[in-house]
Amino acid sequence: MTMNEDIFIYQLDHSDTIISISANWSAFANQNAWSGSLRPEEVVGHKLWDFIQGIEMRHLYQELIRRVRMGVPSRVISFRCDSPGERRFLELFIEALPENLIEITSRILRKESRSPMRLLGTDAPRSTGKVSICSMCKKVKVAPEKWVELEEGVVSLKIFDEDEMPQLSHGLCHPCYQEAMRELDDTKTPQSCH
Ligand SMILES: [Zn+2]
Repeated sequence: MTMNEDIFIYQLDHSDTIISISANWSAFANQNAWSGSLRPEEVVGHKLWDFIQGIEMRHLYQELIRRVRMGVPSRVISFRCDSPGERRFLELFIEALPENLIEITSRILRKESRSPMRLLGTDAPRSTGKVSICSMCKKVKVAPEKWVELEEGVVSLKIFDEDEMPQLSHGLCHPCYQEAMRELDDTKTPQSCH
């Protein structure tokens, strides 16, 4: 099997503890995929839930994994996993393995360079202010019910050239929330036929 740099695979045991990660882990982690650059030993042996940001996103993952364990196949889920200097479009797939293990495969579909967004970086000092960011599409909230791409958001929130960046609060924007609910509806446990 050839190692594809753009596919990242990890496995969970029955208690959702991460038991293995593919060898290209550091490439993913260093690009800020999982809240900063974590070393493999900081990931393996820990619960997946330590690394999923935002309560809605955790709930979505929990439901999907629960259903896959019950034998309901997962569909491919699209999401963004941006680093400061790149927009990254990914999809993930959840699969059941024997012995109640779960395998999660993330694939980078495409990347687009941009000038680095300090809001996503780990080195910018943080103010006490907060900005909501969508865990799925990485849009930021600029007004009630209004979510825009990060580049537009930092301008309209007037934080583009601030020294201190606000803190990020992870949630789901309305369209992503609806999409997630649809996903969960579609993967309901099959009912008996009549
Ligand atoms: Zn969204």
